[in-house]
Amino acid sequence: MKKDIHPKYFDTKVSCGCGATYTIGSTVPEIRVEICSACHPLYTGTAKLVDTAGRVDRFKTRLAKQVNKSKSKAKQEKSADVKEND
Ligand SMILES: [Zn+2]
Repeated sequence: MKKDIHPKYFDTKVSCGCGATYTIGSTVPEIRVEICSACHPLYTGTAKLVDTAGRVDRFKTRLAKQVNKSKSKAKQEKSADVKEND
């Protein structure tokens, strides 16, 4: 190995928000993560949403509003077409 070009190698402790800890090799002494294989829905198989700010709910209400709007618009366009034909 060439001298003075390699970063220091640590036995890094990785701690997750769910409480799980792992030991890996890395160039930083400590890593904190919000989600890991012990708590991610892909691995657990549960549909737990990681939604702290209510963003999913907000999106759902916005989507519902938009669907209603487009439906009423389609109706208006249809009635306009009928008038033109007369
Ligand atoms: Zn975790």
